[in-house]
Amino acid sequence: MALQTREQHIKREKATSNICTSQALLATMAGFYAVYHGSEGLRRIAGRIHAATASVAAKLIEAGYKVENEQYFDTLKIVLPANVSQQQLKTIAEQREMNFRYFETGEVGISIGEGITADKLSDLLTTFSLAAGKEGVEVENIPAKAIIADTFKRKSGYLQHEVFNIYHTETELMRYIKRLDRKDISLAHSMISLGSCTMKLNAASEMLPLSMSAMQNIHPFAPKDQAAGYMQLIGELGDYLKEITGFAGVSFQPNSGAAGEYAGLMTIRAYQDSIGQGDRNIVLIPASAHGTNPASAVQAGYTPVIVASDELGNVDMNDLKVKAEQNKDNLAAYMITYPSTHGIFETDIREMCDIIHQYGGQVYMDGANMNAQVGLTNPGFIGADVCHLNLHKTFAIPHGGGGPGEGPIGVAAHLVPFLPHHQEMDGSSLNTVSSSPYGSAGILPITYGYIRMMGEEGLSRATKIAILNANYLAEIFKDTYGIVYRGKMGRVGHELILECRNVKDTSGITEGDISKRLMDFGFHAPTLSFPVHGTLMIEPTESESLAELDKFVEAMNTIWDEIKEVENGAYSKEDNVLVNAPHPEYEICADEWAHPYPRSKAAYPAAFVKDNKFWINVARIDNAYGDRNLISCLCDMG
Ligand SMILES: *Cc1c(COP(=O)(O)O)cnc(C)c1O
Repeated sequence: MALQTREQHIKREKATSNICTSQALLATMAGFYAVYHGSEGLRRIAGRIHAATASVAAKLIEAGYKVENEQYFDTLKIVLPANVSQQQLKTIAEQREMNFRYFETGEVGISIGEGITADKLSDLLTTFSLAAGKEGVEVENIPAKAIIADTFKRKSGYLQHEVFNIYHTETELMRYIKRLDRKDISLAHSMISLGSCTMKLNAASEMLPLSMSAMQNIHPFAPKDQAAGYMQLIGELGDYLKEITGFAGVSFQPNSGAAGEYAGLMTIRAYQDSIGQGDRNIVLIPASAHGTNPASAVQAGYTPVIVASDELGNVDMNDLKVKAEQNKDNLAAYMITYPSTHGIFETDIREMCDIIHQYGGQVYMDGANMNAQVGLTNPGFIGADVCHLNLHKTFAIPHGGGGPGEGPIGVAAHLVPFLPHHQEMDGSSLNTVSSSPYGSAGILPITYGYIRMMGEEGLSRATKIAILNANYLAEIFKDTYGIVYRGKMGRVGHELILECRNVKDTSGITEGDISKRLMDFGFHAPTLSFPVHGTLMIEPTESESLAELDKFVEAMNTIWDEIKEVENGAYSKEDNVLVNAPHPEYEICADEWAHPYPRSKAAYPAAFVKDNKFWINVARIDNAYGDRNLISCLCDMG
């Protein structure tokens, strides 16, 4: 099993999924759970859960209840005796601070987890017993085992790999996790300039609520009167986001930006349906759009039509007018990223919205680049009808491990009634896109804290610094590498696309070589060949200081000099620091060194590197091979 295969959305409208931000971090945590407990541990835990469930079933039957499911693992569906009503049981349960599942057909559902203790079992059984007019129940201990029908028993081995069998103490597990952690370059080492990803600081003060049990131990379906704090937080955060976006309503259901795109398009369809225009099926998408846009449009059942870019990277306004006119009877929506995925503020943005509206379409603004807008402008002002926000980009939720994310959508007033509803929220299932009413609500306190602590002034300042930092780098690199696109005012937005194609023509050095060489300096590569092939996209974010930006500049300038050394023949095209990068420790300290440049040039290319050297784990790998083949590395799972 591979936890992450290559992102499908890169294939744009040919993708079969729109997933970009996923739940990879949570999957990794689940993986560690299995590593720690191993097959025997999991079997023991499961056996205890089942035994506890079986003892509950037996005691309930004694007390006059009926268990409807004959075979079960941890969940019972309970039929109440004739003299006990669901309401009676519920009243007693709530007095005793317990929530059960109440079926509309009258049964009650419970599930037992591994946190069960004899005391909790006593509490649970006492509740049922009191409801049946009987006495409290005292359970001494949880039986160690229960019989599982032979038909359902697993007989084959599982989790047999070494990794599930050697880290069964906390000390060992801690060291194993730390060992893996040390293989990763993170924001704790240096700037991660991945354009389009917004790898900004996730401040400790914002992350604190994640370790508060009051924030984390609540079920998404808990009765609302038991979740007053969360309801207040969600309500206030919704108000802040409305103010920030200039919109009238917000839904927190989507768990990622791409899920927001899907939800936004469904909202548009429901609205158009309501005015008798539900068969509009064309979505115009600029060529510069992020791959999730066309992928989401297809997932939502639309046909994307691509609008060309002009030579400056802007939407080609003529092409937009022609395509909007051509499709006027079927035009459902226009998806536009602002500032664009080319990193520039398009000055024609309001005119674009007008054109789409004139032909009966709705404007979906991809708000992933909202960190270049907050406090300065907003999608409502621009004239858009819907947008998603990547709370895990602009609003400080960490997403380095791949997720979880939160991609709420904001909409203009006419679309509010068609926002995703949820059975557990208001009894309606119109446009439900998530199994929980407010998506990954458990991470909303991060964004709430970020907005509250930054305040109006802080948020606008963050936007300004993000734009300033990008323009600082653009000014410095303009005369060497070159900047691919600039806006009408000669500036970039919050990110920039670095030209690497000229260098390739003169020296054979590619954008990939530059990225790999940056690792020798202790920098994570910028975004490679996206959205323009043969380039690097750099987004410094507002989190980086001038000192860190200058280190990055020093690294890139040193690399520029190294490219010149290849160009002027000081080193051959086949054997130089760039094509051989990155240089891991095992190569640098090997007994043999056959390259024409010294080891010190390879490992310590700038003075600042000596202070904080990050040793990369492996030398150059075959990217294309790795993309196409699932490689299980049995030799070194550590
Ligand atoms: C990141 C991004 C998306 C997708 O968001 P996810 O949360 O990763 O699904 C969409 N559009 C743009 C411009 C982005 O940068």
